[in-house]
Amino acid sequence: MLWKTADYAGWGRALTATGELARPERRSALDALLQDGLVPAIGMRRSYGDAALNDGGRVIDMTRLDRMLGFDPATGILDVEAGARVGEIAAAFAPKGWLPAVMPGTGFATVGGCIGQDVHGKNHHHAGSFCEHVVSLTLLTAKGAVEVSREKTPELFRATAGGLGQTGVIVSARLRLLPCKGDVMVVTERRVEDWDEHIALLDASEATYTVGWIDATATGAALGRGILEEGETGSGLVPKRVRYRKVPFDAPKFALAGPIVRAFNAAYYRRVPASGRTVVKPISDFFFPLDKIHDWNRLYGKRGFHQFQCVVPLSSAPALRDMLDEIASSGLASPLAVLKRMGPGRAGFLSFPMEGYTLAVDFPNRAEARELIRRLKSLCVDAGGRIYFAKDSLARGTDIPAMYPDLAAWQAEVAKADPDGALITDLVRRLSLRSVA
Ligand SMILES: Cc1cc2nc3c(=O)[nH]c(=O)nc-3n(C[C@H](O)[C@H](O)[C@H](O)COP(=O)(O)OP(=O)(O)OC[C@H]3O[C@@H](n4cnc5c(N)ncnc54)[C@H](O)[C@@H]3O)c2cc1C
Repeated sequence: MLWKTADYAGWGRALTATGELARPERRSALDALLQDGLVPAIGMRRSYGDAALNDGGRVIDMTRLDRMLGFDPATGILDVEAGARVGEIAAAFAPKGWLPAVMPGTGFATVGGCIGQDVHGKNHHHAGSFCEHVVSLTLLTAKGAVEVSREKTPELFRATAGGLGQTGVIVSARLRLLPCKGDVMVVTERRVEDWDEHIALLDASEATYTVGWIDATATGAALGRGILEEGETGSGLVPKRVRYRKVPFDAPKFALAGPIVRAFNAAYYRRVPASGRTVVKPISDFFFPLDKIHDWNRLYGKRGFHQFQCVVPLSSAPALRDMLDEIASSGLASPLAVLKRMGPGRAGFLSFPMEGYTLAVDFPNRAEARELIRRLKSLCVDAGGRIYFAKDSLARGTDIPAMYPDLAAWQAEVAKADPDGALITDLVRRLSLRSVA
């Protein structure tokens, strides 16, 4: 198995690395690559910043270790290699009446990446985070292969769930899938006129899956307007056909200029009739809407983009409104802006979720946007919230302890699993995550 030197990037393309990558296809090849010591593992690099980068060092790309190893229909437990993508699991199992219990907004995320970030989905308020549905996992640590579960190794489990790959290489996992009605989604879409209505509808929603799209360019009385989507799985219905597209080149700078985004958002808002509507969609279209535009990250041009995502407690909704106000007045936001209500579920010391509201907005990689994101981060800390490692590329180490109160417990467990720091990635280095107090 050869190591190949390559330039590679996080999904936002603003942070890049050069280093050696290997892509083993079998467990024996993985073991051979690790015989001289641990190397950080990465998935599909759908983390926006530097969580999956190791500049000047090595990484193991796990995406060829993607087999489904066994499924028990009596319990719904799927044994799967860490490089399998959630979208593929959903496509294979939804027709049989099962779905991954938690799915992020891209089906390209791997099982290993979903564990490494303890991802959340549109059902977090009911189902909690991804790792709450991980029964056990096989982890290669400095001490060899370990079977990790909540019952047998609770501290190591909590350090691995959302632990950014710092406890070892996840080889495979046993996931408890959720029963579903079938492989289509019945989605109710309705216009939301402003921030207060958006929060009230998210609070009142009883749907299994709920998400709000926000027009982050709307100001004044229209601040916080958007579209609320509520979804349930269904069967025996014919969804509308989805067309897949590709962004063939890096878009020019004007493609996402303020006036264009404002016009796009206004049209997108009006695409749903004022009286609302119910539509039938393929599951991939509802859960992974952006995946149908391949390489959409090129829309931001060569300099790439940043996503700001934070979560604040329920009582800090007014602070989140002020943050949105600042975003909308800046004229820097892109059309991609999402508001969700989260429940309390989180499985790891460094898991992102907390009970509250999460806002995610994309910005082009420009000096004014980076400055705005830094201000938003400070407002988030003041509001008792936290930012998401899967999206961040700009925070500093000193920001982290206030947001992640279990950081010391994570550091202690990581120091046992990887005493030599062999698994340190660019994000962990940038934030001094394994040492900052
Ligand atoms: C369009 C889009 C929508 C998204 N929507 C959501 C969302 O709704 N909710 C949400 O929570 N996230 C969301 N994300 C973020 C995404 O789900 C996470 O970044 C996820 O980690 C990506 O998986 P990946 O396979 O690309 O992992 P990578 O980005 O490659 O890696 C993520 C982390 O996991 C570690 N890791 C990966 N594989 C292994 C392994 N086998 N062993 C040990 N460590 C490993 C890496 O070292 C790294 O620290 C979204 C991302 C995109 C691009």
